[in-house]
Amino acid sequence: MKAVVLYGPGDVRLTDFPTPELKPGTVKVAVSYCGICGSDFHKVAGKKNTHAIHYPVPLGHEISGIVEAVGEGVTGFKAGDRVTVDPNWSCGKCYYCQQGMPSFCENARGVVKGMCEYVVSPEESVYHLPDSLDLHTAALAEPVACCVHGMDLLAVQPGDAVALVGMGAIGTIMLQLIKNAGAGEIVVLETNEAKRELAMELGATYFVSPADQETVNTLAEKLHIKRVIECVGIRPAQKTALAVADKGATVVMFGVSDAADELPINLYDAFLKELTIKTSFVNPFTTQRAINILNNGALKADKIICKDLTMEETIEEFANPQYSRMGKVIVTVKRE
Ligand SMILES: [Zn+2]
Ligand SMILES: [Zn+2]
Repeated sequence: MKAVVLYGPGDVRLTDFPTPELKPGTVKVAVSYCGICGSDFHKVAGKKNTHAIHYPVPLGHEISGIVEAVGEGVTGFKAGDRVTVDPNWSCGKCYYCQQGMPSFCENARGVVKGMCEYVVSPEESVYHLPDSLDLHTAALAEPVACCVHGMDLLAVQPGDAVALVGMGAIGTIMLQLIKNAGAGEIVVLETNEAKRELAMELGATYFVSPADQETVNTLAEKLHIKRVIECVGIRPAQKTALAVADKGATVVMFGVSDAADELPINLYDAFLKELTIKTSFVNPFTTQRAINILNNGALKADKIICKDLTMEETIEEFANPQYSRMGKVIVTVKRE
């Protein structure tokens, strides 16, 4: 099958790759669309990944598609069903799985890959799509599911003042979820001025560059920012997140850092503010809710997706990212 494959750091090729085998209890999905995730760029750069990488391996994991065939014993799906797949498989038997924390599964495998014509997934990781949800939008299910988990941790209450640091693809999803959660004021902190119009359209009440220290400080003092979510994963953004948090605030560090990065925190400031600092890891039990949100139109997918690429064009995007900085890029995998 045709696949966008990572052969080693910096070595991405569009090539023929063995089609995964249909086994009992699994579902074979013909992939329609696959989103490019920030973590794909981390993998291409040779950075540490959540699961060990065994080269060569297809990139991507944010897919939608159509069931091609089902393995022995599969009862919930049949050929032709429209689906998305949760790429994080867990064993259900280890300590963390038994404690209801499957995302920390000790036997976790990243079983499903995305930028290839077929994926084979355990049945329990496959989700039906409602007829009213198109496959293009449904490719957002995985990133939205991760954002829903982040929102659960952020726990916005109606009327809260909330700050969002960074408006890439994830920030654009998060901003809409924060607005839908009933936030009172929403401050978007973003260095790229070109994002202002979109931020305001999607419900921001303020759009400020973190470099404009004076405005940032004045706003933080005036608004009493109760919830802060950081969606970049770099130190300056994390420092901004901690700085704007009010006394008693919750700060969620959602952006994925480099494994080697450390963040110096002034613990005296944190002590005076009695901060709750959380981190958010993948998407436990949130895939169905993500599908529901995408289906009911609460998220404007066309504001999140900035570009569609063919598999051929994807090779160039990994070598020289143009669109991924602006928003979500979706790769068309299905044969036309
Ligand atoms: Zn992802
Ligand atoms: Zn487990």
